[in-house]
Order: sequence, then structure tokens, then C-alpha cells
Amino acid sequence: MSGLHVQYYIVCKRKLWLYAKNINLAPENDKVMEGAILHERAYRQIKERDIHIDNQIQIDAMDKYYVREVKNSSKMNEADRWQLLFYLYELKKRGVEKKGLIQYTKEKKTQEVELTHEDIARLDKMMNEIEQIIDCVQPPKFVKKRYCPNCAYHDFCFAGEESE
Ligand code: SF4
Repeated sequence: MSGLHVQYYIVCKRKLWLYAKNINLAPENDKVMEGAILHERAYRQIKERDIHIDNQIQIDAMDKYYVREVKNSSKMNEADRWQLLFYLYELKKRGVEKKGLIQYTKEKKTQEVELTHEDIARLDKMMNEIEQIIDCVQPPKFVKKRYCPNCAYHDFCFAGEESE
């Protein structure tokens, strides 16, 4: 289970399943490239950057108080927030307690994220559901979403669909 699983769970459960089954289609080129550049440039002043823990946590930067994530825009705010909460929870399990901070470069704003008991309960439930989705033989049913045009699986999901 990684932060990306949590993010895809929020964005689209079908995407989560396709990703978990290693079905790789056209990469989200521009977005991926944009994200890579953003991460490369972010938090240069912070010593602890680009931290990887147990193949689960991939943190942009961490300082004395915050786990920091940089994002281009807040369009996927809900998914970003849960991804960061997942990191905070996994760190808490390892004895590290911090708050989170998401920095949105386009809107030039930051959002503080704090892990609550309710979030922990929701994350536990979420992780169970993620495992159940991944264990399914078939992907969840295709349901059109606002996010679809930007998704790497767009052509896969829309094969045979009438365009709107
Ligand atoms: S194209 Fe849409 S329905 Fe298909 S995986 Fe992506 S977000 Fe989900």
C-alpha cells in the first residue's frame, strides 16, 4: 500500500485497480513531467527531501514540524489531503508525529493538514477497501468522471464509448 493507492482510491476506484494490476497505458506525460520538475525544484532549502520509506511513503520534504508536499494546483485537493494523511498515519505508526503542509504553487497557497482520530478510523477503513478492490478479479465498473480526460487510462475506459 502506498500513497498513490490512497490517492487513486479517492480519485477513481477503477484507476486504483488498473494501477494495482500493473496495467500501464499511455503515461500522463505533461502532468508527470510537470510534477517531476516541481518536485525537483521544491524545498531546496530543506535538508530532508525526497524521503522514501518502505516503498510506502514518498515524501517531498520533512522539517522539524511538517511533512511537506508540493502540488501544482489544488484541483485534486481531496486526494492530496488523504495521501498526506496516509503519510502522517504511517509515520505515526513508526513513532514520528508531525503535521502536514500542502503547498499549491499555481494558487500560491498552503494547506495545513492534521491527523485526527476520525482520520485514522477512515484510513483504516480505506485501506481495507483498497485491499478488497485490488483483490477483485474484475475492475470496478466504468463511471465517467470529471478527471477522465486527464487520466492515463482514458483511451482504455472510453474504448467504444460515444463522445459527448
Ligand atoms: S478514465 Fe476515468 S473511469 Fe477510467 S480509470 Fe481514469 S478516471 Fe477512472
